Amino acid sequence: MPASPVFVNSDITQPNVLTLREHLLNWYFACKRTMPWRAEIDKTPNPYHVLVSEFMLQQTTVQAVIPYFERFIARFPTIETLAEASLDDVYALWQGLGYYSRAKNLHTTAIQICALGTFPQDIETLKTLAGIGPYTSASISAIAFDHPTMPVDGNVMRVMSRLFAISEPKGSKLFEQSQNVVHIFSGKQDNTHSAQALMELGALVCKPKNPLCEICPLAHDCQAFQTQSVDQYPILLVKAVKPKRVATTYFITNQDGHVLLMKRPDKGLFSNMFIFPTTCFDFDPVSLPNLTILKQHTKPIKHVFSHFDLELTVICAETTDAIPGIWVAPADLAKYGMPTLMHKVTKATKI
Ligand code: SF4
Repeated sequence: MPASPVFVNSDITQPNVLTLREHLLNWYFACKRTMPWRAEIDKTPNPYHVLVSEFMLQQTTVQAVIPYFERFIARFPTIETLAEASLDDVYALWQGLGYYSRAKNLHTTAIQICALGTFPQDIETLKTLAGIGPYTSASISAIAFDHPTMPVDGNVMRVMSRLFAISEPKGSKLFEQSQNVVHIFSGKQDNTHSAQALMELGALVCKPKNPLCEICPLAHDCQAFQTQSVDQYPILLVKAVKPKRVATTYFITNQDGHVLLMKRPDKGLFSNMFIFPTTCFDFDPVSLPNLTILKQHTKPIKHVFSHFDLELTVICAETTDAIPGIWVAPADLAKYGMPTLMHKVTKATKI
């Protein structure tokens, strides 16, 4: 971590930042949202709950995560129960949350922590666990164990860029500068609250669009607000255009009316998940000699991945061949851990 913070305005000195922290915490104690993984102000957080929430919240909103979190904790109330569960059971509860590699990593992390015999508290040990990088380790260390560290996510970067009018565009340099400034917010105590308060301010008040500066506890010292330039921060990078891929998925039934599924390998996109045979996932229809096409859906399904956009044509077909594979009664499809994209396919076949 750099030694000293970068302030655009030299009038803002460390004592002022400490005052900012006090204003922030007062606001947080009065306005924070209730979340099932968030401990009451005077209670000690449950590290397992914090861990599960951190994995679920990656790429997903708090409101969307709450019902998944509650179902997950009801089924796996302790880290030991999660470690002992099968990966298929974990996937079944993760259905709809997307990014299944997170479920797999969470399961592996639970096994690793149980093998350690103690829940790691420091960033360096946490970073050795599956799927835990610099952000998640800082977040767990701060929120669950009150360590003086501060996670920097998109919300925190946005608050920092506006508060200190940081002129770096979104990206790694803004991240570094935010880290540089934000570590002052972490103190010897109440760090669990400081970390959550900054994130909460970004989510509820200092929102990407139409921030609520008039009720912001930091408005008095906010450089962007005081110079009426809030809409200029954070400075945006020009977005790279994502490549587009085109593929076909086959909803194949046999004489029993069962549907063919394939299990993805344990590495790569949709690892260990069940999918319908799909051309961009190693399926070639030529491998099925007696395939009769029943219907080709004219409107392809559009799906956005982090590194490409997919247009997927759905074909319903039937076969009389006894093809080896996983044949499932349509009513049982919900028991298999399938990615959201495949649920869209199932829905399309019913139109
Ligand atoms: Fe964000 Fe406005 Fe608060 Fe500044 S005053 S931190 S821009 S909400």
